[in-house]
Amino acid sequence: MKDIPALFGSLVFNDSVMQAKLPKETYKALKKTVAQGSHLEADIANIVATAMKNWAVENGATHFTHWFQPLTGITAEKHESFISSSSTGNGKIILEFSGKELIKGESDASSLPSGGLRATFEARGYTAWDPTSYAFIKDGTLCIPTAFCSYSGESLDKKTPLLRSMQAIGIQALRILKLFGKTDVKRIITTVGAEQEYFLIDKKIYLKRPDLVYTGRTLFGARPPKGQELEDHYFGAIKPRVSAFMKELDEELWKLGVPAKTKHNETAPAQHELAPVFSTTNIATDHNQLTMELMKIIANKHGLACLLHEKPFAGVNGSAKHNNWSISTDTGINLLEPGDTPFDNAQFLLFLAAIIKAVDKYQDLLRISAASAGNDHRLGANEAPPAIVSIFLGSELSAILDAIENDKPYEGKEKALMEIGATVLPKFPKDTTDRNRTSPFAFTGNKFEFRMVGANFSIADANIILNTAVAEILSEFADKLKKSSDFKKDLSIIIKDTIKSHKRIIFNGNNYSGEWEKEAAKRGLLHLKTTVDALSEFLNEKNIKLFAKHNVFTENELRSRYEILLENYCKIINIEALTFIDMIKNSIIPSSISYQNELADLVIMKKKIVGYGDPDAPFTDLPDSERRAGSSRPTCLNSFVEDKLLNRLAILTEKIYTETEKLENTLPEAKEIDGDALKLAQFYREISVIMSELRVFVDELETLVAKKYWAFPTYGELLYSVN
Ligand code: ADP
Ligand code: MG
Repeated sequence: MKDIPALFGSLVFNDSVMQAKLPKETYKALKKTVAQGSHLEADIANIVATAMKNWAVENGATHFTHWFQPLTGITAEKHESFISSSSTGNGKIILEFSGKELIKGESDASSLPSGGLRATFEARGYTAWDPTSYAFIKDGTLCIPTAFCSYSGESLDKKTPLLRSMQAIGIQALRILKLFGKTDVKRIITTVGAEQEYFLIDKKIYLKRPDLVYTGRTLFGARPPKGQELEDHYFGAIKPRVSAFMKELDEELWKLGVPAKTKHNETAPAQHELAPVFSTTNIATDHNQLTMELMKIIANKHGLACLLHEKPFAGVNGSAKHNNWSISTDTGINLLEPGDTPFDNAQFLLFLAAIIKAVDKYQDLLRISAASAGNDHRLGANEAPPAIVSIFLGSELSAILDAIENDKPYEGKEKALMEIGATVLPKFPKDTTDRNRTSPFAFTGNKFEFRMVGANFSIADANIILNTAVAEILSEFADKLKKSSDFKKDLSIIIKDTIKSHKRIIFNGNNYSGEWEKEAAKRGLLHLKTTVDALSEFLNEKNIKLFAKHNVFTENELRSRYEILLENYCKIINIEALTFIDMIKNSIIPSSISYQNELADLVIMKKKIVGYGDPDAPFTDLPDSERRAGSSRPTCLNSFVEDKLLNRLAILTEKIYTETEKLENTLPEAKEIDGDALKLAQFYREISVIMSELRVFVDELETLVAKKYWAFPTYGELLYSVN
């Protein structure tokens, strides 16, 4: 038995380690810095750095790195050993780590995306310690979570705007609580629990699929005889090999202080999920990055490949990341939990109203936070929320809002007039029977679950949008209420007006249905089907204003992100197209030709045997019943099957060949679309359409070509590779 409490956080320079290793005064000063976000004095930084280094070395570390989250969506690190540069000479070395090295790093990061913010001649980027996220040891290296910015101070990472957005919502929510007389609250944070879905397949089989290796998803593959229709995988018994992987993953995550909690099989064959206990958004984001990284490394150790792509296989479910989000006070109160008193309920309703308005007003941004080439294959397919943003509140809460809006009694358990601030709301059970799995943004009793985010994403983006959009509406509400002479009356008006103006975003039905698409159009909700459609809305005036007002992104920063997202989309599809062309030309067409060759030989041979075309050839002693009508040839040797097969193979191969040629000839046109990122992305969207048309022919071909000629593992082999 492992001692989980001893294991948990054993590789983290956390609060209890700090308390044990730092002089009392230093510890206090550091805590104060973290709480107030203030500047850390150089001498204190030096003491912290030395203690950190000693602790890290005791725990087997030899190197340190500033660990940051550039706009590639993954994490970046550059390791440096603790060997002091002044230690050569007498043959002995000194281990050293200074406060300066802890606080600030300089990195030539010209190869990381900057969206034009950092011209290559000014390649320097800076990393700055984020003392709100603990340092940890990974692979013998002390990792210091840092923010990453350009020489001129513009953010080049996901952490900086996330921290800024947390600050923005913290400030505005605090203003609201002050108006409600809650003076004991000093800080408000947002909390997140990110459920992570993933696929595990056998590594050897994985390596035989260049499309998985290069693009993370299968570019073709005929449906296997068994998919997920029996619903026998979801919550099914976990196979020993997968279980061994999960156990090791849990332990490694626990050592890093990641509170991995639940693990289970997901809907599709070979699909699984891990969910941690929620924490502060900033930490949850760091932890989710670590989780994804460790999943891949540990899978490898078990001879497995972990797929984090949003849609690795057509025809079975894709993988999401469910971003559970709430707002909480430093006194431990969840602001999205309906309260026990009428006054607390009024406060809950105000926050709820703010979220409803924020989601409606910034639908475009929420959609963008889940937009990528990979997620385009998932959003709108039947297992995922559609690309239309809407809110699920459940029938009970919706009925309450309806009663409030129309000044009519609520017909629930206790019939009552829903006068704001005078009525106790019923508690919303976390597991109401009408719990909806199809909604992109669902209220689940005391938090919202944003389900559009793709498995491969950093959750930073979604939370930056949520935090900032809600901060904006809270600030509007606070401005109004501050001026109010009749608080309760104005509170009622705000809540009622907000429900009236923004209830179009609430939808409790089946989001997968075609009717919803029509209904949403009628309501004027956005339906941004692809990443390109979504990104076209990014730089809307209201969005630029929003981020600038709350100091989350300057207009320049926003533009750079827009460029990077579009660029990334184009690059991904380009890689997919090149991979597909390569697989088709080098393997798929040759295997079809080999099989056709075999069939053609057989056809020729059979024709020879039966003397095709010569009615007086052999077999004159056959009874008529065994002859083909009007011929001397026997039915058993007729070449009909081979002919038919050969014919279909020839047609498909021809189709594939000409379509591939078209794809190959079209790709260079990208060079002519210079400088307009959106146009280029539109071009690549066309490329992705050509690829999905092409895939249909390849999928059929796969079902016809003899196994011995087909060069790639099939869906069946991939999805059922782990036993
Ligand atoms: P499910 O949605 O699968 O039924 P749970 O309701 O248990 O699962 O929670 C899913 C995730 O939501 C978990 O990661 C959990 O820690 C997280 N969560 C629970 N409460 C909160 C909260 N107040 N803020 C943010 N996340 C939360
Ligand atoms: Mg969930």
